[in-house]
Order: sequence, then C-alpha cells, then structure tokens
Amino acid sequence: MPHRPLRLAWGGISAALVLLALPSAALPAPKRGSEPLAEVLARLIGEEAVSQGAYKKLAHLTDRIGPRLSGSPGAEAAVAWSAEELRNDGLARVRTERVMVPHWVRGEETAVLLSPSLRPLLVTALGMSIPTPAEGVTGEIVEVGSFEELQSRGDAVRGKIVLYYKPMERHPDGESYGSAATLRYRGAAEAAKQGAVAMLIRSLGTLSARLPHTGVQGYQEGVEKIPAAAVAAEDADLIHRLLESGEHVRVRLTLGCRLLPDAESANVVAELRGSSRPEEVLVIGGHLDSWDLGTGAIDDGAGVAITMETMRLLKKLGLRPRRTIRAVLFMNEENGNRGGKGYADAHQEELERHVAAIESDSGAGKPLGFSVTAGAGGLERVADLSRFLESLSATRVLPDGGGVDIGPMRRAGVPLLSLRQDMTHYFDWHHTAADTLDKVDPRELADNAVAMAFMAYALAEEESPLPRIPEDQRQEKE
Ligand code: ZN
Ligand code: ZN
Repeated sequence: MPHRPLRLAWGGISAALVLLALPSAALPAPKRGSEPLAEVLARLIGEEAVSQGAYKKLAHLTDRIGPRLSGSPGAEAAVAWSAEELRNDGLARVRTERVMVPHWVRGEETAVLLSPSLRPLLVTALGMSIPTPAEGVTGEIVEVGSFEELQSRGDAVRGKIVLYYKPMERHPDGESYGSAATLRYRGAAEAAKQGAVAMLIRSLGTLSARLPHTGVQGYQEGVEKIPAAAVAAEDADLIHRLLESGEHVRVRLTLGCRLLPDAESANVVAELRGSSRPEEVLVIGGHLDSWDLGTGAIDDGAGVAITMETMRLLKKLGLRPRRTIRAVLFMNEENGNRGGKGYADAHQEELERHVAAIESDSGAGKPLGFSVTAGAGGLERVADLSRFLESLSATRVLPDGGGVDIGPMRRAGVPLLSLRQDMTHYFDWHHTAADTLDKVDPRELADNAVAMAFMAYALAEEESPLPRIPEDQRQEKE
C-alpha cells in the first residue's frame, strides 16, 4: 500500500491552502459571533498544515505508548500521557474520571487443521472469550452464514465447532461490517445453545493479508460459555472449499486467554470554557483504549489525536466560542463501553445542558463529512455548516450519527454526530496486528482535525443549539 511519508516541505504550501480555503462568492459567509466561519476555517487549516499536531500526537500514542487494551499498562500510560499533554496545551479543568473496566488478557492462541491434511491455521481469540483446556478443543467444523442457517442445522451442531462464514465487501461507508459484527458478537452464545463446543468466525476484514481480526464477543446469561476465535480469511476460505468439496474437516483450537478481576481506569476530560454560556457543553471525543494486537492507530488513536488536536488548535488560535467544548477520551469502547456509560451516568444531571456530542471512531481516512442524529431540521443545520468544508471535500451529511462512546447520551436527547472518514481501507487493518501508524496519511489526519475543530467551534458558537433527539427516539441502540 502506498502510504506517503511525512513531508517536511508541507508547511511551505500552507499559504496556498489558506487561500484555497477562502470563501467563494457562492458560499454563505454569515458573521457568527466574533469571527466569520470562513476565516475560522482558514486559520485552522493554516495552523494544522504548519504544526502537523494531530500526527505528532498520534505518533506518540502509537509508537511510544503502543497497545492500550483496557486494564493494561499501555491503557494507563495513555491516560497519564493524554492528560499531561492536554495540560501542556493550556486547556482548562483537565482531569481523569474514574471508571472500572474489564481486564481480559490474551494468551497462547493456535489452531491446527487435523484433517483432511495437517497444517496450522492463523487465529486470534475474540475479546472476552474463555480459554480452552490446555490440550485444546477438537471437533468437526460445521459452517453457517447466518443464525437462521445455524438454527436450521438443529442437532447436527452438537459436539462440533461452528464456523461463521460471511465475507465482507469493501465500501467507503464500511456498511457490510454491521451484520458481520452481529455474528461475531452473538455467535458463541448462539452456537452454544445448539451444543457446539467452540466457535470460529472468518475474520471481519476486506484484505487478504492472512491476518486474523479480533473484536469483542458477548456471552449470554444462562447460556454455556464456549471458546471463540477469528480465523484469517484465507484459512477460513480453505475450510470453506474443503467442506464444499465434501470433505470432513477437523480442527483443534487452543486458547489461553483469561478474564481477570475488573481494573481501575479512567476517561480523560479537558475543556475550553465557553465565553458567554459556559454551562452549556459540546462534547467531542474518541476512545483511548485499543485492541492489543497492533498499536490502535486507526482504531481509535486517530480519533484521540483528532480530539486532542481540536482542543489545541482552538486554544492556540484563541477561538473561544460561546459554549464550553469538552474533550472526552473514553476508556473501554472495545470490550465493555464502561467509559461511555460511566460518562453519561456521572454527568446525568448535566446532560440536559449538553448541546451535542461528536465522536470520531472510523479511522484516519480522508474526512467525508458528518452523520447526524438530532431533532427535525438538525441535519440541515449541520449541512449548512458543512458547506464551508468544500476545500476539504468534507461536505457530505448523512443521518444516523453517533457511536458507542457517546451513545449513552441519547437517552437525554443530546444530538449525536460522527465525523465520517473514508473507510475504503479501514477494515483492511481494523483490529489486527497491522493497525499501526504507517496506515495513516498525515495530511488526511490533518484534514480530519480541521473538520472536527471547525464543526465543534461552529456548533458551540451558533445562536441556538441543534434540536434535540425527540423523546420517542431516545432508546439506546444495541
Ligand atoms: Zn473504535
Ligand atoms: Zn474497534
């Protein structure tokens, strides 16, 4: 993959970028508050082009701190570093807000194809899986593509290993992830209900690089727990072809992962106090934890860097909107969402004065725009503001904004937005050992920081806040 190295000459073209960002005659340039939005955007672009601040933060988080699974030393180092960095950037009320997190650790993970021929398979345990016995679990493979198909097999699954086989398609919106992720999340419990002894799933990914992709799975109360792992796409495809040709396929799976007692951790919070309505809050955020296989550059180091850099940019440029902008770096998005739930619970009383929340958790590809969940007319309001982002080609505005971390604020009607990146290559590396800094283009990351900073400023500065999510649409999504 061609990933451009950091260009030192890049700062030299910042003046040209600033000129490009000036409003064309076709654009509305209403004066909002103290500074016209087109000028705000031009200053953000100029500063980020020169400083490359988002990329520097991401480089530290990934190369110096590394993997950040909840409860790990890396996660705690990330909490300490990000709080210190936000303080150094001059932000107000920087603090850590305690949350207890699940502490799951990976161990040995191997699988062997025993018949029709002997060879190793590349696997990785799904998060929160129980271990196998030391000698592993051995069984014949039954392949299914859906829960309906699983149920139609009835007793044929008993004593066997279920393989969920559902290849993903590449798409800029990453839209085929959702249904595959449901198989991954509920797959072990559903297979156990029919007597399976273990569960495997074809890795949720869009590249054939023989990488297993991890991700969380959830057992169900009262259902037997069975070991669960993802298989590299090529190895799942091999099993698929063997089964199709009528072979009986036997596999031995050995997992050494364990769930330890909950650990103490924290969300990291920092503020830019509002100039005239400081009690009204706009939250921006991403998640500080990552899976343990790689260094969490695209998931979600990018969202953390974009959030932290938004705060630094606004502070550095003296852009202080009416309302408070609060950065929240959430802990434990990947395997429990204790950070997202903990934030909404701890700030319950204040949520009615939260005017919006914006999350970035879809990588570091070029920004495409925002998705929005709000009351009537909210999407159009965001679309009006997004027109300023023409020079970044980030003007697309879609329904269904929000993400795991900010989802719990939905119950209070807080308008939820997501910064949307181009996800064409996101699932190539997502949740693998190859989610590392080299997958991030510094200029695309810079554009993301600018888009987030612009939208956060504009929404916090607007005369009236976005319309809230109507009462009858406030149930949190699964
Ligand atoms: Zn994520
Ligand atoms: Zn993730």
